[in-house]
Amino acid sequence: MNQINEEYIEDYIRSLLPSSNGILKDLEKYALDYHVPIVQPEVAQLLKVLLKIKKPNSILEIGTAIGYSAIIMAENTSPNCKITSIERRRDMVEKAIENIGKTPFKDRITILEGEAEEVLLNLNDKYDFIFLDAAKGQYMEFFNRCINLLDRDGIIVSDNVLYKGMVATDKLVVRRKKTIVKRLRKYLQYINEIQGYTSCVIPIGDGLAITYKEE
Ligand code: SAH
Ligand code: MG
Repeated sequence: MNQINEEYIEDYIRSLLPSSNGILKDLEKYALDYHVPIVQPEVAQLLKVLLKIKKPNSILEIGTAIGYSAIIMAENTSPNCKITSIERRRDMVEKAIENIGKTPFKDRITILEGEAEEVLLNLNDKYDFIFLDAAKGQYMEFFNRCINLLDRDGIIVSDNVLYKGMVATDKLVVRRKKTIVKRLRKYLQYINEIQGYTSCVIPIGDGLAITYKEE
């Protein structure tokens, strides 16, 4: 059990999903073998549905890892949709470029290497879909930089916001994660209260938040 859903619920939902093939399947195996935290299947599925509804022209991702979610986003958007993804680890950037190079999407996905908090300050383009999937202790900071880059009617999806259930109850919090948990609680409160935005929290995967920008 992942402390967010009963195992039978998660297993059942997963049993409904079509299994991946090609490069995505290879990357799932790689992630499992090397402990890379890629989006969970039900989260990937929600992303696909959101992207098909929203039809973004320009996506920003924070946290590329091996490029798995970037490839999923490219697959589920129009050929005009550009994706920019930020990653601080050189080894991950290299792996992601290699993986994306094996897909038809290499011209649509740009990876920027660096600390997201710094890279974000140098971006001037506007995005209509932002996927936050990096250091959880910094979500508030990422969010506040991202909203300036987000179009009206834009969406921010934040992954891992329930962090193994710890965010929802002190009973699960382990000591060395106290600060991250505190910050995630503040973050969820903030995105639920901030004027001009509508947010919701969805208990799938490791917890997901979706924020809609009104204007
Ligand atoms: N979105 C990916 C998984 C990302 S895992 C997928 O689902 O396929 C999170 C990644 O964020 C890690 O590779 C980590 O190196 C990166 N990261 C964490 N904090 C960061 C920061 N402050 N700036 C840039 N990248 C960061
Ligand atoms: Mg994640």
